[in-house]
Amino acid sequence: MKVVYSERFAERYTTNPVESPDRVRLPARELAGYEFVEPPQASLEDVSRIHSREHIERVREKGMLAPALLAAGGACRAAEIALRGEAAFALVRPPGHHAASDHAWGMCYLNNVAIAVRMALDRMGGGMGGEAEGPKEAGLGRRRGGGSGGRVLIVDIDLHFGDGTVSIFRWDERVRIANVGAIDPGFDYLTLDPAGYIGQVERAVAESEFDLLAVSAGFDTYLLDWGGLLDLSDYEEIGRILKEGAEERCSGRRFAVLEGGYHQDLRLCVKGFVRGFE
Ligand SMILES: [Zn+2]
Repeated sequence: MKVVYSERFAERYTTNPVESPDRVRLPARELAGYEFVEPPQASLEDVSRIHSREHIERVREKGMLAPALLAAGGACRAAEIALRGEAAFALVRPPGHHAASDHAWGMCYLNNVAIAVRMALDRMGGGMGGEAEGPKEAGLGRRRGGGSGGRVLIVDIDLHFGDGTVSIFRWDERVRIANVGAIDPGFDYLTLDPAGYIGQVERAVAESEFDLLAVSAGFDTYLLDWGGLLDLSDYEEIGRILKEGAEERCSGRRFAVLEGGYHQDLRLCVKGFVRGFE
């Protein structure tokens, strides 16, 4: 289990005050026993696979390109570690799952998970078993799923629906996305109890075939955060379910990337999740 983290993630930048440097600084201290890996900045080439040139330019004009590239680079590094068969948690900010190809909101700028998943799909190519690559698919049309080695399950456990990620992969059949709890953007999760929520995580894993598991790990469904639902042991249980699902389906290839989570206990939520996920 590796933690992808840079002290630069805790730098100050202009954003909503709840998205504070302590969101990564305190969990990093809590995870001190794990092996830490420094992320590189994501390359503009990798980012351009997901975001339009105009969008990247707007992020630059807001002064957010450097921190956003580093967060995306953290997610990519975590995906690379996962492809080698080891679990990884990218402790990054700013978050990413509300960033679509050409627009972003909700304290997100670049879609960290989407950039990492697209990079991983390219690396996996025709299969994890070293098979020859199939013919290149041209254009932005529908990507066919199936085949070996090129399917990703993204489990989004943030309180909020990961609309950016869903819109980015809408036409890509290699990628399945489960927004746990957020059955639809109308937030039906409010009717769930913790057991119902955890049951959705179990079903998402059980009902999917995948070669890599990615987790948009937001913790704002925590009991004392906005969602008011899950306790620390629930996050450990969710991490464990995701680990066991990855071990069963894809030789354990799994990584998680921090999304939301705004209560001071975020550090404990992350630690609980990692304990189950490692
Ligand atoms: Zn959220």
